[in-house]
Amino acid sequence: MLKKNDMAVVTISDMGVDGEGIGKVDGYTLFVKDAVIGDVVNVKVMKAKKQYGYARLMEIVEPSPYRTEPVCSVARQCGGCQIQSLSYEKQLEFKKNKVRGNLIRIGGFEEKLIDRIMEPIAGMEEPFHYRNKAQYPIGKDKEGNLIAGFYAGRTHQIISNHDCALGVPINRVILEKVLAFMKENHISAYDETTGKGLVRHVLIRFGFITKEIMVCLVINGTKLPCAEKLTESLAQIPGMTSITYNINCENTNVIMGNEIRLLWGQEYITDYIGDVKYQISPLSFYQVNPVQTNVLYGQALEYAGLTGNETVWDVYCGIGTISLFLAQKAKKVYGVEIVPQAIEDAKRNAEINGIQNAEFYVGKAEEVLPDYYAAYAKEHPGENAHADVIVVDPPRKGCEESVLSTMVNMGPDRIVYVSCDSATLARDLKYLCENGYGLEKVRAVDMFPMTGHVETVCLLSRKAPV
Ligand code: SAH
Repeated sequence: MLKKNDMAVVTISDMGVDGEGIGKVDGYTLFVKDAVIGDVVNVKVMKAKKQYGYARLMEIVEPSPYRTEPVCSVARQCGGCQIQSLSYEKQLEFKKNKVRGNLIRIGGFEEKLIDRIMEPIAGMEEPFHYRNKAQYPIGKDKEGNLIAGFYAGRTHQIISNHDCALGVPINRVILEKVLAFMKENHISAYDETTGKGLVRHVLIRFGFITKEIMVCLVINGTKLPCAEKLTESLAQIPGMTSITYNINCENTNVIMGNEIRLLWGQEYITDYIGDVKYQISPLSFYQVNPVQTNVLYGQALEYAGLTGNETVWDVYCGIGTISLFLAQKAKKVYGVEIVPQAIEDAKRNAEINGIQNAEFYVGKAEEVLPDYYAAYAKEHPGENAHADVIVVDPPRKGCEESVLSTMVNMGPDRIVYVSCDSATLARDLKYLCENGYGLEKVRAVDMFPMTGHVETVCLLSRKAPV
């Protein structure tokens, strides 16, 4: 076993959930940030536990053949990207293997089955500049100059960077205008340690289809001095649609407060995913990678196999992105979501698209679905609530068992499972396959290139009639 401050040479053979390299020294596992699969590295142990330890990359003894020069100059310090130094091809292979491995190990599926039904991972043609949203913290460097950038991994130290490789190029122009405005008008940056200073964050959103731009300054106060100078400067940018500020006077890591004040233009921008139009305000949730969202939800729609006569449930529906996608091809869609504001957005989005066959419930899936099932049985003695297709897109922790069991009771012909964590996905698929369903198709989709995350969409079919 290694101890703190020991040095070791290790070959990186795997990658952890956050993109960190994993290697073994005499059977002892080390996690090494910034090392990629295939590297032989010299490391120093920083923290040693019984079974495993964390080590710092000191020197690359032999670079991995899959290593590539990061596009961004601050890739290593910045907490935003974890695997920029791994070739994109290898990133995709790693992500597909991660899903495959979890389905086999945790789900208990046979290798042969998985290899037969797993489709190629959907990667991006251009794996940079894919984010439509950026939230830059504003602060000061050691010399007291105003800076904007991103937090370093695990800390709140701001790494100055106006040109994030995942964001859109216009971010830079906007940030520089905001910083110039602050400097010229002696407007201070917020300081987390003292709770003093005004500007905390700059939120920028860009509609990939409409090219509309939103800028929202998050401030530790109720008024932005000289605001007209800021709007005058920002409004010159073609596509500028919404300039607002958000009030957040709390000592908190939560970026946005609840109150928005309009400075210029309108309070929201509009954008599209597929044919569905969305109004996005500074506080709305909206998928950050619109190109891959279209791919992921398009795949979910294809797996749903709708003909126009189906009753569909979209559980964990958020702002209804999947529900509205499906509603265009189904008879009726019911969405369930825990966050009331998300449901308000979902309803408004249905309305602006003229979609009338979608209905939304606010509440916990593990309460709404079983309650609906029980109430239906009461009202229709001898009958059970039925759905033709159920789509679930749960948070990382997956579905509660009561959600899964009610789904099985509702006897849908097809279940489409969209997941952001293939470990909980595998666990839930195991349950569904032990209760009358068969796994038909699996597709991993790379929604977040340069990070360790991977999304998966699966199709299950009912094996025997209920
Ligand atoms: N498909 C959605 C995103 C799903 S993300 C969209 O397009 O917007 C998962 C969603 O599950 C989040 O919106 C989260 O608020 C919601 N959620 C989390 N726990 C939940 C629960 N117990 N019951 C219902 N919804 C829940």
